[in-house]
Amino acid sequence: MVIDKVGPIKNGFYALGHASVPVYLMDGKFPALFDAGFVGLSHLYIQAIKEVLGERTPVYLFLTHAHWDHIGSAGIFKRTWPDMKIVASRITREILARPGVIDRVISLNQQALDALREWGVTPFYEGPFIPFEIDEILGSSKSYPVASDATVEWFASPGHTRDFTVYWIPEKGILIASEAAGCDNVPEFLVDYDVYEGGIKKFIDLDPRVLCTGHLLVLTGSDVREYLTRSWETAEEYRRFVEERLERGESVDEIIEQIKGIDWDEKPFPKQPLEAYLLNTRQRVLTLKERWEKGLSNRKS
Ligand SMILES: [Zn+2]
Repeated sequence: MVIDKVGPIKNGFYALGHASVPVYLMDGKFPALFDAGFVGLSHLYIQAIKEVLGERTPVYLFLTHAHWDHIGSAGIFKRTWPDMKIVASRITREILARPGVIDRVISLNQQALDALREWGVTPFYEGPFIPFEIDEILGSSKSYPVASDATVEWFASPGHTRDFTVYWIPEKGILIASEAAGCDNVPEFLVDYDVYEGGIKKFIDLDPRVLCTGHLLVLTGSDVREYLTRSWETAEEYRRFVEERLERGESVDEIIEQIKGIDWDEKPFPKQPLEAYLLNTRQRVLTLKERWEKGLSNRKS
């Protein structure tokens, strides 16, 4: 099944807030949240989380990576539930400590308010992004118990970003792969094409019953494999598209313009804000160019 709405998914697992930028919740004795979306949607997330948990507090907030649209409400969640532990990779913590990163997270979240207006979300929260500390670095523990029949395991999958972490609940076959599994027909290898593709193959081998993407969709049953296979093929097509143009001597800017014409201009809303889309597209093309140039020099030597 292809689920494009928020609500209960299966066996105490939920997608909450807004389907374009959901927060996932695994309920149990120690409830766990996954990612924290946009700051502008924080009130929707909190309301939906409270509808499930009542007076109970989320015990964990697991972050997949430090991108602005996955950490937006983390600081507000922490203010709402001060005992909740924010858990992320060491590299996520390092990225958030770099100069300029928080300013960019603030500004992209601010720009996303326009996207929320276009998507027809009202009301949205207009307060600023609140910086937060990461309470626990992944590594000290291999897994985290959430319920008697739900444990959160994690593994690094550094193809979308260097800090990327995927979460896996083996008892329920739930994989929170977010952008490591691609997104809305756009391949999401920002930093390493081969690691990204290898990640998708690994996800297929895990044979999840539920696949949580970063935006818009949760897949269940046979649609999981179909989605992952398509993500793999989309990455291959994208790579070939860029390589063909590099071979012809086209510039990075020319290639970006053509890609934008195909996969952003014509796309209906809700879609990624343009600045974030262009940043990511440039990153993807540069990653492929670097890989292609390495291949060229290997062939020459
Ligand atoms: Zn991302």
